[in-house]
Amino acid sequence: MRKKYMNNKNQVSGIHHVTAICSNPQKNIDFYTKLLGLRLVKLTVNFDDPTTYHLYYGNEVGSPGTILTFFPWSNAPKGYIGSGQAITTSFLVPQNSIDFWKDRLKNNDICFEGPLKRFDNEEQVIRLYDPDGLELELVAHPSAKENDERFWKDGPISYENGIRGFYSVSLSEEGYEHTSKILKEMGYKMISNEGNRFRFQLEDSQYTTGAKILDVLCLPYTPHGMIGIGTVHHIAFRTPSDENQKSIRENIIKIGLNPTPVIDRTYFHSVYFREPGGVLFEIATDPPGFTVDQKVQDLGKMLMLPQWLEPIRERLEKVLPKIQLPKNNKDNPIVRNKTA
Ligand code: ZN
Repeated sequence: MRKKYMNNKNQVSGIHHVTAICSNPQKNIDFYTKLLGLRLVKLTVNFDDPTTYHLYYGNEVGSPGTILTFFPWSNAPKGYIGSGQAITTSFLVPQNSIDFWKDRLKNNDICFEGPLKRFDNEEQVIRLYDPDGLELELVAHPSAKENDERFWKDGPISYENGIRGFYSVSLSEEGYEHTSKILKEMGYKMISNEGNRFRFQLEDSQYTTGAKILDVLCLPYTPHGMIGIGTVHHIAFRTPSDENQKSIRENIIKIGLNPTPVIDRTYFHSVYFREPGGVLFEIATDPPGFTVDQKVQDLGKMLMLPQWLEPIRERLEKVLPKIQLPKNNKDNPIVRNKTA
C-alpha cells in the first residue's frame, strides 16, 4: 500500500497543455476559436518576452488536458519538423462526428487527410494542419462519451461533434527505449505498437479518462527538428499539487536529468526538463488555474498581465499587435460550416 502511494507521487496524471509557435495571432485565434470551436481562455503575454502574446485555448475553464497555447512569433523562421519533437497534437471528438468534421474542413478550404483507421479500427483519425502548418488530428473514439465536461457548450460547435480536449500527443524520436524509461517513471506503460508507433498510456491515475495517451514514433532517419513557426515548443504533463511536483522533480534528478527550479506561471507552477530523446517536457500543477485572475464568464476577454508587468501595461498594449477577440463565440462570421 505504502509502496503504491510512493509510486503515485512520482507519476503525472495526463497531459496538461501543449505549447506551439505561430506567426499571425489573428489567424491563430480565428482558426482555433471559430473553426475548431475552442474557447480563448486566456490572453496574456509570454512572461519571458512580454512583447509577445501568449494565447491559451481550451474548454470553458481551460481544464488541464484541454489547453493548447501559442506564442505568436511573427518574425521567427519557419520551424522544421523532425526528431526530438512533439509533432502531432490530437484532439478527441465523438465517434459519429467524422462526417461533420470532413464537411466542415472541406467547406473552409482546410487541407486534411483521412479518415484513417488506427489500432484495430478503434480510432478514426483526420489529420489536418493549422494556418502555420502545425500538425493536428481529430481522433474519433468511444472515450469521448466519458469526457463531456471537456466540451465547451457555448462554442460554435454542437455537443454531438465538439472537441473533448486532447486524445494524445505524438513524439518523434530516433528510438523509443530511452524515452520509454522516463515515461515509465512518470507512470506510463507501453500498451501496444503498430509499425513504428509505440503507444504509452498512464497506468494508474486518479483521473480515469482523457489525455492519458502518448505515442512515440520511431523515425531514426529523420533529421532533428528545429523550433520555429508551425512547431511544438513543449508538452506539459499535469500534477495535482506542488508537493507532487516536488517529488516528481526529485525523481527526475535521480534519473540523471536536469530539471529547472519551480517557475511561477501564474496559472500553474512549472518545472521543465529535456527528456533523453530531446523533447522539452514540463510538469505543471493543476492549481491555481485560469480563474485565479478572471471570472469564468470573463476568461479570454481582455489582456491579463501578471502583477509585475501591470506598471508597463500601456507600453505593452502599444507594442503588441492589434487583434480582434472572439466577441460572441456563437457568432461565427468568418468560417461558417454550410452543413451545420
Ligand atoms: Zn508550458
